[in-house]
Amino acid sequence: MTTAANLASQLRFVLVRTSHPGNIGSAARAIRTMGFERMELVAPHRFPDPEASALAAGADEVLARAGIHAELVHSLAGSSLALGLSARRRGVNLPEISPHEAAQQALAAAVRGEQVALVFGNERTGLENDELARCHAMVRIPSVEDFSSLNLAQAVQVMAYELRVAMLGDDLPAAPPAHDEPPADAAQMEQFYRHLAQTLDDIEFHKGREPTTIMLRLRKLFQRAQPDERELRVLHGILADAQRMAGIANGRIAGGK
Ligand code: SAH
Repeated sequence: MTTAANLASQLRFVLVRTSHPGNIGSAARAIRTMGFERMELVAPHRFPDPEASALAAGADEVLARAGIHAELVHSLAGSSLALGLSARRRGVNLPEISPHEAAQQALAAAVRGEQVALVFGNERTGLENDELARCHAMVRIPSVEDFSSLNLAQAVQVMAYELRVAMLGDDLPAAPPAHDEPPADAAQMEQFYRHLAQTLDDIEFHKGREPTTIMLRLRKLFQRAQPDERELRVLHGILADAQRMAGIANGRIAGGK
């Protein structure tokens, strides 16, 4: 049965490059008050730290269980939907949604059995473009234009509250029939992007151009498509064949000389 506690365990709050340990503690408290427990920390500047414990105000379990990762992609492992919270619209052209819509999307995914990540940026710099590029949508809390940036833990609170309200509502989406193939998770997508980047090199696609922009565009395309595992296997197969043909062509050219 779909219960709020089951759904809550499929959601994780990811804090990226947090500077102030106090904010980690306050975020843990915010998460815990709304019935969530899972926090993942990506390259925190200081953690564990007494300030984090003090501001967690009893939400120690959340801190004790928090995963610590060197890279955002590791903190997303197992999740198939990542929603990045950002005060500012960035160069990355992602769909922009409200916290309410984000809660609806997150719960719909959780009800389908998927895991979801809510991703928060550093206090000063927010989420960088390459971090947002790993998200499926950008969530903006509708603050005023000329003073748009909330304190990190307060932004976590707003998002956690929206999720809680959505979970308590009567209109929880019904569980659909199980996917015949699960959607690919963040780690599988990352492996695919590496294969794609390597193949583009092998077939000499870039012709001296800088690959960063095209890779961001391609990421956006595939993030939008949200391929499942079977579809990803087909794509890997196509890439592997392209690499093989490029190898043969190179051999021919080399042999022809
Ligand atoms: N100067 C940074 C602000 C960082 S605040 C910037 O412009 O992005 C720290 C984090 O809190 C942000 O990375 C974001 O995850 C969250 N946050 C703060 N204000 C927000 C808002 N209005 N909407 C969505 N997220 C917000």
